[in-house]
Amino acid sequence: MTYDVIIVGGGPAGLFTACNIDKKLKVLVLEKNKTLGIKFLMSGGGQCNITHGGNIKNFLKHYGNNGQKIRQILYKFNNQQLIKFFKDRGINFVEREDKKIFPASFKAADILDVLLKVCKNNGVDIKYESNVENVTFINDKSIFKVIGNKKMYESRHFVLAAGGCSYPTTGSDGSGFNLGKQLGIKITKIKPSLVPIYVKDYPYSELAGLSYKDINVQIFRENKKIREEEGDILFTHDCLSGPLILNLSRYLKKKDIIRLNYLNEKIETIKLSNFLKNKGKIQINTALKEFTNLSKKHTDLILKNIDINHEKKCSQINNIETKKILSKIILDEFEIVRNAGFNKAMATCGGIDLNDIDLKTLSAKNNNRLWFVGEIIDIDGDTGGYNLQFAFSSAKKCAENINNICISV
Ligand SMILES: Cc1cc2nc3c(=O)[nH]c(=O)nc-3n(C[C@H](O)[C@H](O)[C@H](O)COP(=O)(O)OP(=O)(O)OC[C@H]3O[C@@H](n4cnc5c(N)ncnc54)[C@H](O)[C@@H]3O)c2cc1C
Repeated sequence: MTYDVIIVGGGPAGLFTACNIDKKLKVLVLEKNKTLGIKFLMSGGGQCNITHGGNIKNFLKHYGNNGQKIRQILYKFNNQQLIKFFKDRGINFVEREDKKIFPASFKAADILDVLLKVCKNNGVDIKYESNVENVTFINDKSIFKVIGNKKMYESRHFVLAAGGCSYPTTGSDGSGFNLGKQLGIKITKIKPSLVPIYVKDYPYSELAGLSYKDINVQIFRENKKIREEEGDILFTHDCLSGPLILNLSRYLKKKDIIRLNYLNEKIETIKLSNFLKNKGKIQINTALKEFTNLSKKHTDLILKNIDINHEKKCSQINNIETKKILSKIILDEFEIVRNAGFNKAMATCGGIDLNDIDLKTLSAKNNNRLWFVGEIIDIDGDTGGYNLQFAFSSAKKCAENINNICISV
């Protein structure tokens, strides 16, 4: 039989596309794993940060340099409409203080259940352990011939929802890009995004787990500042992480300099030296605790790394030492060595070239029966629910356009 639509990939983007395609159409989802949505079930640590609160207009700046290009996709099916879709099917949501939205049960599995129920009600066919390796056209590009697990399927429309390369063990291993290439689509350079960063001579192993809010972070390349943002950071046992570092990771290159400013304001040496003079007999680490928001453990480590005994009295600190202390608080600099790779990246930077997609419909410019949704597209969002919102918004847009073409014919 010839299906109306074959979707490769049973993640949130593929399943939501299937959910929104008209029941009258015969839809097949081909998923390489034994189960669906493996990466989705890991989202938000299994709790599923499905989207973000606030106005959808504020989303655009959270997709790197490509946010403006997907404006219509996000506006057409925004965060409120996404929440409504699941609320109408019995899921309640909570919005945290940081505006991240989760199902009230904090279970990604509850959202996946809804997707599966809707697919079932709509009569969507799902074939598991069907790794699609080949796709070609027949009949002058009007029929797709798809080979999955040695079986051949045919369809009038073909949707690539195979994810990117992040967490490849979940099935999202980049094989979707090969399928795109087989159909004449360009793939932009791929690299990990939302990924922790390794720096040269990392000094903070013993601070593992320590995080700070609203830290000013600057990035320099060849002595030129290329980026400056404020946000939350985390020291792990061997690298830098936390929301701000993850969000910045898409811009970073080896040998870039990352500068952390724990004070978030311009403090001159003179101000610090006056402050220390006034503290007289008080121990330097105690005084610094008052002057900065740094933890005591961190302050002690900074002092140790610049060879100042943390028990030294403030009155004993000389000008050179004051400068050293200040430089570590305002200019804690690190050279970037590498990122933690796709195994630890929550998103993929790069993918199906936006120049090859008609972003009004999400079909290929060279073939209006070939479609792309979710992470496979060259769009990657910040942490906070932006990637799942894009997966759902793009799926909705694609399904509506397939319906428009197929039902009106
Ligand atoms: C640990 C982790 C936590 C995350 N947390 C969040 C979060 O809280 N909020 C948020 O917004 N985003 C989060 N993300 C990102 C989010 O999970 C992804 O953006 C989202 O899953 C992308 O959906 P997708 O359907 O496009 O791709 P995927 O979820 O990757 O699904 C693609 C599917 O296609 C299948 N597939 C691939 N190739 C083939 C093939 N050749 N043949 C057949 N099947 C194939 C795969 O097996 C997979 O099931 C997180 C990511 C990770 C890794």
